[in-house]
Amino acid sequence: MKPVIVVHGGAGRIFKDREEGIRSGVIRAALKGYSILKQGGSALDATEEAVASMEDDPHFNAGCGSVLNENGEVEMDAIIMDGKNLASGAVSAVTCIANPINLARLVMEKTEHMLLTDRGAKLFAKVMDVPEIPGEKLITERSLERWKKKLEADSNPVEFKKEPGTVGAVAIDNEGNVACATSTGGLSNKLVGRVGDSACIGCGGYADNQVGAVSTTGHGESIMKVVLARLLLYHMEQGMSPEKAADTALNYMKTRVGGLGGVIVVSSSGDWAARFSTNQMSWATVKDDQLQYGIHTGELYTSSVSEALGSK
Ligand code: ASP
Repeated sequence: MKPVIVVHGGAGRIFKDREEGIRSGVIRAALKGYSILKQGGSALDATEEAVASMEDDPHFNAGCGSVLNENGEVEMDAIIMDGKNLASGAVSAVTCIANPINLARLVMEKTEHMLLTDRGAKLFAKVMDVPEIPGEKLITERSLERWKKKLEADSNPVEFKKEPGTVGAVAIDNEGNVACATSTGGLSNKLVGRVGDSACIGCGGYADNQVGAVSTTGHGESIMKVVLARLLLYHMEQGMSPEKAADTALNYMKTRVGGLGGVIVVSSSGDWAARFSTNQMSWATVKDDQLQYGIHTGELYTSSVSEALGSK
């Protein structure tokens, strides 16, 4: 099987001044994941590394750069899933760690559980020797400004946030195993303790070698109502292509619950799609040593991996 990776950097509205940084961030993540796959690494490792690279990049709403909750703190959700055996690990409402996706993987591999939250996740991180960092280290000037503005505006908390940044990756490796990983700071000015779709299996992501792998982004409460990632894979099981299944699932979410979002998907035969119902979604993919990426509807840039590495 030829390896494929697809990543996203969140669906929503991307402001012009942010485009360049976001574009480079998703390209860097896709290339990182692909290099792991090319060396014979697993889809699980590739998706975890790709997501960790975007968690470390302050352009995205995940890890450093996460949006803030109503108290002005960073609380993060993440999930990872292995399509080989349907094993999955997730964390929700975690604070003071740099890479929630690494902790999600530890939940998957070192516990008998699938999701640890808040205090329990923190205790588990300690046991696993995951370094604790001051919460302020995850806060950027931009997220602080946003938080203040939103407080002042006293805006409706159910309105879909205008700026994206949740990150995700899906991949298939040369053994035909698929995996997904998703990580987020959630919605800005969310209630303390709010758990979004990104920590919930079938919502923020799903991976099954028999069908494919999906990572989602968008209005979490809508995604959870329609169980978006699993819904998409169900449509593929019924014979739809990844693109058609993605559009059908997103359209259902829009018409049934009024929610907007985006998805990336790779099938068990290595076909992929990146689709969204929001104004924009940043994404990048590498297949056959060819990099493709875009942000706006219909946008698709192509370059070879060697070219892309040369310009990094
Ligand atoms: N789905 C994320 C959440 O609701 C947000 C996003 O994808 O932008 O937590």
